[in-house]
Order: sequence, then structure tokens, then C-alpha cells
Amino acid sequence: WLQLENQVAIVTGGASGIGLKITENLVKNGARVIVADLSVSTGEQADGTYHIQCNVTNKQSVENMISQAVERFGTVDILVNNAGVNLPRLLVDFRGEKPEYELNDKDFDFMVAVNQKGPYLCAQAAARVMIKNNKGVIINVSSEAGMEGSAGQSAYSATKGAVNGFTRSWAKELGKFNIRVVGVAPGINEQTGLTTPAYNEALAYTRGVTVEGLGTDYSKAIPLGRPGQLDEIGELITYLASDRASYITGTTVNISGGKSRG
Ligand code: NAD
Repeated sequence: WLQLENQVAIVTGGASGIGLKITENLVKNGARVIVADLSVSTGEQADGTYHIQCNVTNKQSVENMISQAVERFGTVDILVNNAGVNLPRLLVDFRGEKPEYELNDKDFDFMVAVNQKGPYLCAQAAARVMIKNNKGVIINVSSEAGMEGSAGQSAYSATKGAVNGFTRSWAKELGKFNIRVVGVAPGINEQTGLTTPAYNEALAYTRGVTVEGLGTDYSKAIPLGRPGQLDEIGELITYLASDRASYITGTTVNISGGKSRG
């Protein structure tokens, strides 16, 4: 019922985790999906998607990716800015045990480059196409951490807060071209490529607990008592990308089971 036939969608970071589920849901609803990801080789895929190798932090790479998409599929109707990275880091390693888990310039710049600059570069290149068409949807994948802050994830939270600012501002700039801009903020979810053992170890240290102590008893932390399923996020984004959501723009939707503190 979301009727995305003939719609051309680009999903950055679509090769893994949440992006993979966004891709599957868009395909299921009829869209032609281009996965733009660092980790893929360019070419047609058995599942009907088209992969384009792209580094969202690099302007030339992003512009090439959008040009290739337009050359091959004629247009870009939907952009999902999903590619993201998260390195848990304390502002100050006050325990003095693991300086590698104190925020440093390199890790800070890396998160800003992928999570904040990436969406800007992709949206700018895609919006040039969408403005010509007088039609388009840009979805920015934020995070609950970007809405509420998160201990041990200040730089990550700040990049996602910046993304929320993009969502509000681009909606105001682009509404007159019939382009909607919507954010989606997931909370704690099923495991993805991002929530690796290294991520858990860093997060545990920043929280002052063991990895086991990070816990899987979500009943206290999440009102709905369970982590989010990646498919639930994919479905929400597919709905928001469709004309069924034709009056939604400039806002970020929480999909966190009611959790509101990181
Ligand atoms: P993931 O690591 O499973 O997938 C991220 C994908 O992005 C990978 O395929 C990776 O190759 C790609 N990528 C990374 N850097 C890139 C770059 N420079 N250029 C192009 N592609 C790049 O992660 P995920 O958990 O599915 O995260 C997807 C999004 O969801 C991120 O923006 C993340 O911040 C957000 N998010 C995730 C969670 C969670 O619980 N996993 C919670 C809230 C928000």
C-alpha cells in the first residue's frame, strides 16, 4: 500500500544493519534501490538492488554516486542518509585507565565526517536533482542519543543533534520544491554492524560497567521492554518515504520503544 513503484531511492550505508532493512523494505514496496556504501563493489545485484561504491565523507565520491544513479535510473526521488559510525568515548578519562577511550581529535573528526558531513554532501547532490523535478524525500537517520544526549557518546550525540538541525532547516529550505525532509531516531536495537564487541567494550568502560553489565534486561530502560527490531525501523522509513506521509516534514520521529534517556 506504500506504492513506491517507479521511485528511485538511494540508501547510504545500505549494505549492513539498519540500512539493509531499509533497503529490503523499500524494495518490497516497489522502489528501485541503490545502495551507496563504502563496503560494496559497484554493480547490479541478484536481489534487484544496484550497488555503488561510495564514501559519503568525500564530495567527489558522493557527486559521482549521484551522477551514476541519475545516468542509470533517470532520477533520484528518495535519499536515505543512513551511513553512520559510533565510537563511545568519555570527554575525560577520569579513571585514568584507558586513555584510548577518551575523546580525541581523530575520533571526533571521523564521527563528524561520516555522520554530519556525509548527510550534507549527499543531500546537497541529491537535492540538485530533486529541485529540478519539483519532488523528493530526504530521510536522515538520527539517534535517540541525538535527541536526549548519551553518557560516553557525546561526540556521536552531537553529530546526530546536528543531523536533527539539518532536518528542520532543509525542510524549511526545500518545502517550496515539494521536497520533504524527515528524521528517524532509533534507540537500542537488535545487533548491527555498529554494535560490535569493540563498541560494547568501549561503551562499558565509558559507563563504568563490565560488558555483561551493559545488560539485556531492557524492562527498566525501555517502556516496551525490548530492543527495536531493524525491520521496524525499515518499515517506518519506507512509510515516511512514501506519499502516505505527504504532510510530514521537518521533524524527527523517535523509534525507541519509549526510551528517552541514554
Ligand atoms: P552498521 O555498521 O551495521 O551499518 C553502517 C553502514 O554504513 C555499513 O554498511 C558501512 O559500510 C557504511 N558506512 C560507514 N561509513 C561509510 C562511509 N564513509 N561512506 C559510505 N558508507 C559508510 O550500522 P547501523 O547500526 O545499521 O547504523 C545505521 C545508522 O543507524 C547509523 O547512522 C547509526 O548512527 C544509526 N543508529 C543505529 C543504532 C543502533 O542501535 N545500531 C541506534 C541509533 C541510530
